[in-house]
Formats: sequence, C-alpha cells, structure tokens
Amino acid sequence: MIEIGEKKVYCFGGGKAEGNAGMKSLLGGKGANLAEMASLGIPVPAGFTITTEVCNWFGDHDRKHPDDLRSQVEEGVAILEKQMGGLFGDASNPLLLSVRSGARASMPGMMDTVLNIGLNEDTVKGLIGSGGDKRFAYDSYRRFVQMFGDVVLQVRDDDEDPFEELLHAKKKARGVELDTDLTADDLEELVGEYKALVKEKTGKDFPDDPWTQLWGAIDAVFLSWGNARAEAYRRLNNIPGSWGTAVNVQAMVFGNMGDDCATGVAFTRDPSTGEDRFYGEYLKNAQGEDVVAGIRTPQPLNISGKAPGSTEVSLEEDFPECYAELVTIYKNLEDHYRDMQDIEFTIQNRRLWMLQTRNGKRTGFAAVRIAAEMVESGMIDEKTAVLRVDPEQLTQLLLPVFDRKAKNEAIDGGRLLAKGLNAGPGAATGKIVFNAEDAVEWAAKGEKVILVRVETSPEDISGMHAAEGILTSRGGMTSHAAVVARGMGKSCVAGCGDLDINYKSGELKVSGRTLKKGDFLSIDGLTGEVIEGKIPVRPSEIVQVLIEESMSAEESQIFRNFTKIMDLADGFRTLGVRTNADSPTDSTVARRFGAMGIGLCRTEHMFFDGDRIDAVREMILAETVAGRAEALAKILPMQQADFEGIFRAMDGLPVTIRALDPPLHEFLPHSDADIEALAAKLDVSADRLKTLVANLSESNPMLGHRGCRLGIVYPEITAMQARAIFQAAVVVAKEGAKVLPEVMIPLVGHVEELKLQRKIVEDTAKAVFEEMGARVDYLVGTMIELPRAALTADEIAEEAQFFSFGTNDLTQTALGLSRDDAGRFLPYYVELGIYPADPFARLDRNGVGQLVRMGFEKGRATRSDLKVGICGEHGGDPSSVAFCHEVGLNYVSCSPYRVPVARLAAAHAALQEGSTD
Ligand code: PEP
Ligand code: MG
Repeated sequence: MIEIGEKKVYCFGGGKAEGNAGMKSLLGGKGANLAEMASLGIPVPAGFTITTEVCNWFGDHDRKHPDDLRSQVEEGVAILEKQMGGLFGDASNPLLLSVRSGARASMPGMMDTVLNIGLNEDTVKGLIGSGGDKRFAYDSYRRFVQMFGDVVLQVRDDDEDPFEELLHAKKKARGVELDTDLTADDLEELVGEYKALVKEKTGKDFPDDPWTQLWGAIDAVFLSWGNARAEAYRRLNNIPGSWGTAVNVQAMVFGNMGDDCATGVAFTRDPSTGEDRFYGEYLKNAQGEDVVAGIRTPQPLNISGKAPGSTEVSLEEDFPECYAELVTIYKNLEDHYRDMQDIEFTIQNRRLWMLQTRNGKRTGFAAVRIAAEMVESGMIDEKTAVLRVDPEQLTQLLLPVFDRKAKNEAIDGGRLLAKGLNAGPGAATGKIVFNAEDAVEWAAKGEKVILVRVETSPEDISGMHAAEGILTSRGGMTSHAAVVARGMGKSCVAGCGDLDINYKSGELKVSGRTLKKGDFLSIDGLTGEVIEGKIPVRPSEIVQVLIEESMSAEESQIFRNFTKIMDLADGFRTLGVRTNADSPTDSTVARRFGAMGIGLCRTEHMFFDGDRIDAVREMILAETVAGRAEALAKILPMQQADFEGIFRAMDGLPVTIRALDPPLHEFLPHSDADIEALAAKLDVSADRLKTLVANLSESNPMLGHRGCRLGIVYPEITAMQARAIFQAAVVVAKEGAKVLPEVMIPLVGHVEELKLQRKIVEDTAKAVFEEMGARVDYLVGTMIELPRAALTADEIAEEAQFFSFGTNDLTQTALGLSRDDAGRFLPYYVELGIYPADPFARLDRNGVGQLVRMGFEKGRATRSDLKVGICGEHGGDPSSVAFCHEVGLNYVSCSPYRVPVARLAAAHAALQEGSTD
C-alpha cells in the first residue's frame, strides 16, 4: 500500500516556500533546492512541487490521481499567477508554465520535461502583446507543440523525429541553413504543419486547452520514471525504483525575448582548479539549452574571465545591475550551502531569475583546494573538509598528466588506437621498445620509452623502471605489469587485447596501423587510452616538492592544500597505512607520502638486479645441497645490502619482509639462445640445461611450487634470506637506527608449514645474534592468502605473531579465477553486473570479505594481540580500505603512490562509521 500525505503540492516563490532543502525524498533534489532558494529571498520563478508520493500512488493506481490532487494543483497555479502577475491560459496576459521531473538523486536527462505549456492560438497573440515579438512567440509555440507531441503524445518513434523532418523541409524550402534564419511567418506555418502531423499520427486534434496540456505534461513526467532509460540508469546507480520522481511546475521566464534578455550557467569557484573566482558563461537573447548545446559560442560572465585582448562582451559589462545581483546571490548561496555551487540563471527584460543551484562537480585539484580554503576561512569544519575530497580523486594530484589541449587534438585527429585497462594512472609518452634490455639501454641514452609487452614478469623489472610507461596486451588489474607499475607510480595500460604484438619483427599492429620499435606512442593510465605519437606530459607539483625536491613547498599552492587535507585526515583515521615497497627508493617515496612502515617487501624483484640473476639461476639449477649453498652464498651479501638500505630508509618503522614467493621457472631463461648463453656461463651442457628447465615447468605455476613450498623443499633458501635480514638489521641497528623487522612466510595453507619455516627463521636469528654479538626484536608471521589459511586461522595463529591478508591470491583462489588470465573475460562480468567491480581491484565483500573477517576473528581468538594487515592490491582501494576499517584490521598496505589515497579513505571510514548515508 503506497502511503501518501494529505499535502501533495508544495508552493515556492515570492520569498517564501513550503518546502526546504532537507525534504529531498519528498520534493526531489530540484524541488527542495528551489524551495530553499525561494525562502532565502532569491528570485526564482514561482511554482510548486508535486510530491514523489503522488508519483508512486499514480504508478500503483492504474495512472489515476488521488482525489484532492486537482484542487491542490489549481490552488498552486492560482498562487503562482498572483506572484508572477500573469494568468494561465489568459489571452491578453498569458502566463506559461514548465513541467520538469526531479528525483531525490540526480538522473540527468533520463526523464521528461515540457516547456511553454499554455500556448494556443489565443495565448500566442497575448504573448506578442506582452513584450515578445512575433518571431519569439511563434518560435516558442512551435517548440512547445514539438515537445508536447514528442513527450506527451509520443508522436516520435525511436529512430526518427517527424517534427525535425518538417523543420528541415521548411528550411530547405526557404533556402536557409539555421533555425534562426526562419521568419515569424515560417514558424507560424510550421505550427500548423506540426498540428496536422499530430492529427494524422494520433487521430486527435492537438489539445489547445491549457489545463489539458498541463495535466498531460504532469502525467508524462510521472510515466517517465518508469521508462527504460530511467530504469537502466537506476540499476547502474543503485537508485531504488520506490523513490519516485517529484514534478516541478513553474512559471516560464524567457532569456530569448530580445536583447535585454540572456541566460547562463556559472560555478561559484573554478571547477578545474578550485580557485575562488566566479566563473561562468552566458548568451544574450537565448534559451538555457543553447548554452549547453554549443550552437552559439557563449561569452564570459565577467571581465576577469575574458581572454587577454578579447573583444567579447561580458555579462558584467552588458548587464551590470543583473551581474551585481548575481554576485550577491552566488555568495549568499555558497555561504548557505557551504559548498561550491553550480547555478543556472535567466534574465528576462533585465530582470534576473535563478533557475537552479546544486553542489558543483569538480576535479581532484579543485576538490582539495576548495576544501582546504573553506576550512581555513571557517566556512566548513575539519570533518566536512576531509569528507569533501573523494580519496580516489587524490591520484589526479600525484601523477603526470597529458597537456589536455594536445591530447584532445590528438584524439580529434584520429590518433586514438585502442583502449585497455587503466591499470597504473598517469600519462606517458615515448618511443616503443619491446623488451626490458632495450628499455634500459635506450633510457641510458636519454630516450623516453614505452615498454610494450604481451605481459611482463619479474625479469622485466629493470626495463619497467627505465620506461616512462608500460603497455601490455594481456593481464588484468593485478597482473604483474599492473601491480609493479602502480608500485612505481608509473603509467600502465594493461590487457589491451586489440594489440597484436610481434617481438620477432619488432612491430605492433593495432587499428589497421603498424607501429615499429622507435615510433612514438602515448598511453593514458587514467583512462586506458593508447594514442599514436607524442603528447607533452606535465609532472605533478606534489611529486616535484615531495619526491624530486625540485620545487619548494612555498612555490606550490597545490602541495600546501594537499598537505592540509592529509594532515586533517590523519587526525581522524584509526587504521594504519603502510606501503608495499621493495627498494630503498620506493621506501623513501612511500615514507614521504606518509607510510607508517612497510607491509610487504617482495624479495624476488631484488633477484634480477645486475648479475645476481646468474647466481639465482645457479641456485635453482644446482642438483646438490652443497651446490645450492654455494650459489646462495653469492646472493646473501647482495640481499643483505638491499635490506640495509630499506631499514635505513624506514628507521623507526616496521618492515615486513616476505620470503621468496614466485614459482622458480620465472627466474629461468626460456628461449634456446638464452639457455645456451647460460649453459656457457655455468659451464654445463645446453641439452642438460634444457632438460632441467623443462623439468621445472608446471601446468599451473600459480598453484604450483611457489610460496612457502619453496622453503619447505629448499630450507636453505629461507635460511639464507633470514640471515640476510638479521645481519642487515644488526648492522643498521649498530649505526643507531631503530630497526623493526617482521619476517613473513607466504602462501601458507597449513599450520605445519609455518611451524617449519618459523623454526628456520628463529634458529637463524639466534645464530646471527650470537655471531654478531647484538640482537634486535623481530616478529615472524604469515600471509593469509589461501582459503584454507583463513578457515584454520585459529591454528595458524598459534605459530604467527602477525597476519597479512594477501587478497590478490585469496581472491584468485577463493573465486577460482586466474589473476593473470581473468583480464580476458572479467570486464564482461563487470559489464553484466555479475560482479559490481573487478574483484582484484575492489574486495569482493560477500565472498573474499567473509574469509578475511573469519581469518581475522579466528586469529584474534587464539592470539588477542595478533597484528593484522592486508597487503593485496585492495589495500589502496577506498572501498576495500573501508571494509578493513570495519573488520578492525591494524593497517592496510599499498603501493607508495596509493598511500595518500589510503590515508584519506581510512579517515572517511572512521568519520562515516555508524552513519546511514
Ligand atoms: C597477494 O597475494 O595478495 C600478495 C600481496 O602477494 P603477491 O601479489 O605477491 O602474490
Ligand atoms: Mg600472494
């Protein structure tokens, strides 16, 4: 049963209103804001709002109206007639009405609108008498018949609009191109033709009675709540069908009645930069839709908005009184809503009317600046300032960007080649190379390169470092390329299936074009676009101040605003934020971005630096324990040096170092030539080496001999790594730094695995401390990244001092989805709504989330002081961060460039706790 209040119509206008901004569920966003503006004394054309309840009642009662709706609407019209000084349907002083939809949430363009209601053969003459010229009056009339015919009488079908065809024919007959070239008589004729068309299509005369027109329009808006477009939009945006739309009936005002009329849109602050300046555009003698439609080029609102030397005339100069009034109003609105407003206005015969106000959409740059400046001026409190910035928007402030104009020109010029996954935000432009060695070599010569690969693996790491950006044709959001690129703060477009990459010929075919090694290519990691040629890139100021130190904080207002918001956020959040970093440089970067430690140091990337890969390969291929020990002894000092660098960079903060994780075949050469070269180096036969490599290959390496399974079979590997960690820790501690190592065992599924590995770590620590005559405190813990680990977390916690959820593998194994192959079909799943988002990017709360919650609770039940974090890619995703806060984890760990996003997301989670919004 639909509930409906007695009051169905809420009037506004003349400095008063029956509704207010808090009544969005009953009056819709538009109606509530119009009411609010009216009661602030702001000139809005008088009108009334029919409640959303009526829409729901109408839908539930076979398109009938509640009994008392008619009398309330008639009373509403009488009130607005009095306020506006005209009469609806009157031949000498006609008042025209608009009917617009307005739901609780904005659904732009999804529902219907009818303007100029009340026009007929008599009132059109009255309109001419009351100030409009004949052309204006008939133009309004023909637009009305067309709109009413389309929306209410549904004369138009899906593909063609017969009214447009008549208009087109008329222009052709008159030999003119533009609608504006048609004369008043032409338009009068068109009205007749339009009406004849209606009669032909519907079998009925076009309704001339203003009240029939009004009710027809109101019902059409109610019905449009249920149209297919609106339903699809609601589904996509999670808007319940039970909300219904309100209907706003309002007196028409005209910006197109002559040269003393105008219409425009404005923002109370600059929506791109956030600068506190009134910014907007207007058109003289025009309707609102003309400004948006781009048929005529609008003029700047004020003198300060004019381009230097421009001959444009601003509203400030042409309509000085209206402009002054508009300035007072915008300040009033901004003060009242305490947020940047996006406003629409119309001037009719030099009288200003406000048509709309709402919180304006803005870039990340603008969001940060507006929040920082509003909190500084006392307009908003600190909590509001933090909540005003969407964490995801912060990435815009950190990354290099394409020069917007140059990029648009490139796309308009047909240089867009393909689109892939926007895996690592930021813009990059450079010459194409197809392998890591070329990337390193070319970069050393000062060339900027884009590394183009089918997919990447750990051996590409140095090439990825050297490249400006990475483009792959395979792999998803947690593919190696994506994870590593995000970690490095590098642009990456992954899984771009349209690319046909041929390493042999050094060619890339896409969109019917062939690009060669050395050709320029540009990739936009924010959008996934791949563009041919070079596009200028600009570095982020925050990176210049914090990381490159090439700019001072005083020079960068963007940096100061960013710092202000981040400091405020830190005051509210309770969740810790660490970073995933594998080198001293990345550790330093993350620390400067505010990381409180390292949550995951993947040791395998260190294995590829310089000549060490040879020793690693020797170790893998050794057939005896002694042979392995010999190779490991070569690796040990190199690993120790890496750890020393990281401990120094993270002085005073915890550092979680993970034992070797990837399947060993990732370290081996695969091509015959590479195998032969290695055989020569190791002084073994190439055939023998080929057999060894073949023996190590697996059909499903992700579920094969990797993670702690390596350390179980080859305990000396874990022992070597533990020795490198503890020797480094003691060395750096002796230098006076505070070192807090946490040794992490990966891919544990059974407590016994951890028990065995823990013993090796502890025995090694003991030995090292004895040898070096000093000790450091340390922890041993595990990753929880297999469902069995989550299910038996109570047992595992007996052996673990900390847990870190590896949600990349946990997602892979819980969903049975290969993280390297899912990119091929997962986008369709998301498009179909099977998963609301890529589960490798946003934690699947109903599935993987349950395992996380269970693992956390079982772990804490065994060990109440168990430290628990997350180090999968989800640690940098705001929605997943909110989930981690809710579960009660100690920290999230994410790539260095995501640290600010996670800090802000954690503050949002703390501030929104318990709120029902
Ligand atoms: C994980 O599985 O979530 C994780 C962090 O480890 P990796 O991505 O290295 O497998
Ligand atoms: Mg893992």
